[in-house]
Amino acid sequence: MKRLLCMIYVTFIFNLHYSQNPSKKTSCYDLMDVLKVEPTPLYKLHLDASKSFGVKLLKDTKTIRKYISNGKFHAIKKKGKGYRVQKLNYSSAWMVSKASLILEKIGMRFTKETKGHTFTVTSITRTLEDQCKLRHINSNASLGLSSHNYGNSFDISYIRFNDVLKYNPKMEQALEKVLQYFANTGKIYYIKEKQQSCYHITVRNY
Ligand SMILES: [Zn+2]
Repeated sequence: MKRLLCMIYVTFIFNLHYSQNPSKKTSCYDLMDVLKVEPTPLYKLHLDASKSFGVKLLKDTKTIRKYISNGKFHAIKKKGKGYRVQKLNYSSAWMVSKASLILEKIGMRFTKETKGHTFTVTSITRTLEDQCKLRHINSNASLGLSSHNYGNSFDISYIRFNDVLKYNPKMEQALEKVLQYFANTGKIYYIKEKQQSCYHITVRNY
């Protein structure tokens, strides 16, 4: 009898132990490693601007959904005046309202200056999960925090205009001129990212 009770007890403890430890879903990234990376002074301006919107670091799609349901994130249309959004694989088309407004304004100014041309947005809001997956296919993707992780940054290609992938210095210059205008008026920060052939744009909380 004693042995039987003992066996039941052991089985009970065994089951209890394992039921409390379901196989944990391992995350793609280590937050401590991400936070350890020191941004360059130029990039720090972008990150500080991103953090000023009151959006917490976007870890996964669940966090994005939270900001969609409370009205903080606005859907970015696939097509607007002067811009197109390409099919997004590692980011999603949601941003804070000021960023969405500035994208519209950049598009309008660009199409006016170029008499009807369009540029292509290649990346928008990224979660840490997205960023980690992206890094698996593109080793240049940021190891540390990215301003895309807060819903106010997007990338515009400088080698794709009017939906055509082609080196186009005239369009590239026109685009840079428009970005310079918005930077000068304190609305954005931008960096030309040669490895990705895009302008990385962060909207400021002006
Ligand atoms: Zn970017």
